[in-house]
Amino acid sequence: MGELENTDFLSMDRRTFLKVVGAMGASAFLGLHRSEISKALELSKTRVIWIHGAECTGCSESVLNGRDPDIFQAIQKLSVDIAYHEMLIQQQGIFVDGELASTSELNSEIMLDEAIEEGGYILVVEGAIANGPDGTGKYCMYGERTFKELFTKAASNATFVLAIGMCATYGGINSANSEIVDLMDFRGVAFLRRDPSKGMLTELGIDRPVINIAGCPSNPDWVLLTLAAVILGKIDINDPDPILDEFKRPLVFFPENVTLHWNCPRRGYYDIGQFDTEFSGDACLWKLGCKGPYTHSDCALRKWNGSVNMCTQAGSPCISCCEPGFFDNSTPFYKNVQTVAPSNSETDSSFPSNENNEDTITPAAIGLGATAGATVIGSAAYAARRIVQKDDNKKEMDQ
Ligand code: SF4
Ligand code: SF4
Repeated sequence: MGELENTDFLSMDRRTFLKVVGAMGASAFLGLHRSEISKALELSKTRVIWIHGAECTGCSESVLNGRDPDIFQAIQKLSVDIAYHEMLIQQQGIFVDGELASTSELNSEIMLDEAIEEGGYILVVEGAIANGPDGTGKYCMYGERTFKELFTKAASNATFVLAIGMCATYGGINSANSEIVDLMDFRGVAFLRRDPSKGMLTELGIDRPVINIAGCPSNPDWVLLTLAAVILGKIDINDPDPILDEFKRPLVFFPENVTLHWNCPRRGYYDIGQFDTEFSGDACLWKLGCKGPYTHSDCALRKWNGSVNMCTQAGSPCISCCEPGFFDNSTPFYKNVQTVAPSNSETDSSFPSNENNEDTITPAAIGLGATAGATVIGSAAYAARRIVQKDDNKKEMDQ
């Protein structure tokens, strides 16, 4: 961290900047560079309009629960003007003489329309967009109009769109297989599951740059650091693709060639073939259905809840909540995919076949031979150290 304190982030090229903010948490970045950020933003105020479609508001909750900085500190430091956010802005719809008030001070729908008409804002979309039934969008209403109508207007006037969470990015649980999924016809902003041709922007013929922050929910760091990079001009919003993967996720948080499994705190057990078959153990969770080996996210390094913990560390198999195609791709959540094929044939090619799944395990782990490579030895030592530490802790507690 010492070296980073002395870096001049304003003179960094885009790639270096993204690497640095990727390595630091939002807190460290915003804290360390407070004065430079203030200088860079002296004359600017970035307007953000944040709209909610079909979702659980979990991504807003996640960002609001972010700590050091919390959302309000981040807004201050980045000089952001939240022109509209369903949960942060008090809803107003006051009736005067039996009629709905028609000024933006008293009616938040009018306030939203006025903010959209001003244009020049970042549009944050949380939640899927209903296209059904029959292209009307009426399965998701927003006051008197459809969310599809609101999204169309808001996206048309935005400078760029930040889709956060699986519902807004790829459809999420709204697009999971069911008897009514075709009727509801929920879409992500730029994709439906893994298909860009069925994203809502394509459906509407609107051409806007998009960044997808995956996750169910999204990590507050992923959202705040991406916003910071955009606001500080470190992402070219007219051409963000060089820093994104094929699903428009920032590579710095969702690396193409590294999976969560690489840095998992339980990785040592995997390499020596120690697998939990019941919950509450200490070993690798692969036989309980862990999808870490197929998940391109930095959760194991960045962690959650103020960098305290993450799924596999807490004993829950990774359900691959940030891969396009979630949730069908990941179900059944808690069964070893080696013996259970993916449920959605459309996504078979993206998910490991049974054969590939076995390939990810070292020969030592599945008992096919004794490959005493350095990795295996190192991992075994790591696992052994954890066992010893656990025993020591237990002894201390017993005393
Ligand atoms: S399979 Fe899951 S629990 Fe096991 S090491 Fe990989 S990510 Fe961790
Ligand atoms: S560890 Fe897996 S399930 Fe947990 S948040 Fe990360 S990607 Fe999602």
